[in-house]
Amino acid sequence: MSPSAALRRELAKSPRLLLALDFDGTLARLRRDRRAPRLPAGRRKALSVLAKTHGVRILVVSGRALADLRGRCPVPGAAFAGDHGLRLEGIGPRWRHPDLARRRRRAGILAAAARAAAKDLPGVRVERKEASVAVHYRNAPAVRRDPKPLKRALERLPLSGWRVAPGKCLWELRPRQDWGKGEAILLALKRLGRGWKAAFVGDDTTDEEGFAVLGRRALTVRVGPGRTAARWRLPGIGSVDRLLAEIRRSRRP
Ligand SMILES: [Mg+2]
Repeated sequence: MSPSAALRRELAKSPRLLLALDFDGTLARLRRDRRAPRLPAGRRKALSVLAKTHGVRILVVSGRALADLRGRCPVPGAAFAGDHGLRLEGIGPRWRHPDLARRRRRAGILAAAARAAAKDLPGVRVERKEASVAVHYRNAPAVRRDPKPLKRALERLPLSGWRVAPGKCLWELRPRQDWGKGEAILLALKRLGRGWKAAFVGDDTTDEEGFAVLGRRALTVRVGPGRTAARWRLPGIGSVDRLLAEIRRSRRP
């Protein structure tokens, strides 16, 4: 399915477009192994062409760390927001959230506690990210059937101001007072200056938070099924390619 005519019209009429895209599940297919997702060559080419197009900036926004993200998205000219938007590079000077050091320490403490809480659950993997902790259960069939007991166990950890948030086959420990992908996109917009419009394409829970934060300030696009706060929807990752091609066509002089 092609992007709807209304979305195509909106994209075409924004002379300066900040195109923000999530990575896992939006630009790369989700895989069992979190180290596996890669940007396919065709999509990388399309993004590279767009990143060089006048009046278009590409921003890849992800829960992954910046270095990880950069390595998976070798797109010259693209900007990156890593750690759920706590770091931004490529649009103005490198930026990091002022609270990052404190969050990093807390993430270390909670990752150790989560590992202890999950030690008897085969297949559960605790990933310490810079400022959050992901507890993956994609490879834990028993937890996949009923993930709530794991959630309850995580809620008993010394969370002090953090919360247990859902993701795709994972629970994520994150600060309650949050700065997320939506706020990072707004920061990037502000740095670009007047006349820029943002579009944000994503597929997951943290993207939904971004859609809600952005509201009418961006063209929000959900990839795949599920409840959404986004204004538009693409049926799957394949239609992201058609969206990129459509934006390219609309920019041709
Ligand atoms: Mg995603």
